[in-house]
Amino acid sequence: MPDTQPDPTPAPRPTLDVRNLIFMTLSPVIAIPGTIWYTYENGFEWWMPALFLVLYSLVGLSVTAGYHRCFSHRSYECAWIVQVFYAIFGAMSFQNSALWWSAGHRRHHRHVDGEFDPYNIRKGFWWAHILWTLDPDPEKANLSNVPDLEKMPVVRWQHRYLVPLMLVFGFGMPAFIGWCFGDWVAGLLWGGFLRIVLVHHCTFFINSLAHTFGKRTYDRTVSARDNAWVALVAFGEGFHNFHHRFPADYRNGIRWFHWDPAKWFIRGLMAAGLAWDLRRTPESAIAEARRRAGEAAAEPPPETAVAAD
Ligand SMILES: [Zn+2]
Ligand SMILES: [Zn+2]
Repeated sequence: MPDTQPDPTPAPRPTLDVRNLIFMTLSPVIAIPGTIWYTYENGFEWWMPALFLVLYSLVGLSVTAGYHRCFSHRSYECAWIVQVFYAIFGAMSFQNSALWWSAGHRRHHRHVDGEFDPYNIRKGFWWAHILWTLDPDPEKANLSNVPDLEKMPVVRWQHRYLVPLMLVFGFGMPAFIGWCFGDWVAGLLWGGFLRIVLVHHCTFFINSLAHTFGKRTYDRTVSARDNAWVALVAFGEGFHNFHHRFPADYRNGIRWFHWDPAKWFIRGLMAAGLAWDLRRTPESAIAEARRRAGEAAAEPPPETAVAAD
């Protein structure tokens, strides 16, 4: 008789993602004291911050206009060449593949502030900011909510070749550009490590700061808030209360004066014929959401109402 008894002592699930712990701890040390020390010892040149700023912008836009608004929310359609740009520069962000990122982000929207929200702010500010990345939860690899993205050849290609893309473009390219200017280590530090760490934390601010500080103009039922300071460093993603209320909209900052470079970038793509079908919430629906949120804000909390009777 074959033994059909279940294993009485299943292997315990690991409690820490050691690879992420090492990267998230070492990369800021190399990026900040490392870059300062190396530049102090070997000299500063104009191309170093220029390389940082150019790559910071291209990678930041690939996460916001690409991973977030194009892939996770499908808020517009774009040409395959634009998808390839998002795939390569998005891989350089060291935030995993567009497929993995979008699966987690869709769970965040669906279960926001709940048990299945991967960066649930109710588990604490630092959990939502970075500690969630150290949790080896197997659910993070669950791609069942991204079947539409699995049909996209560029997304599949990036998911398959993610590690070589991260290494060649995330580290190799800035080192090569630095070498062209005579200092490959400076290129690796300014365009590689410093850029990775700052893009990391500016992205993480959306899950921490923009779920803690700011106004809830459109929806009082979620923790997401509109925070212009976060928008400033995260390419417009700080208008997060609007985004949670209307996640399919290609804009996060809806007024002309709202700092939202991802929105302007997508409009630029449309003008060049490289993006189409931009999804935009009707003004009447936005006004209605504002009115309801305003009414909810004006209502006294239940315990106050009882006390006032
Ligand atoms: Zn959110
Ligand atoms: Zn979103």
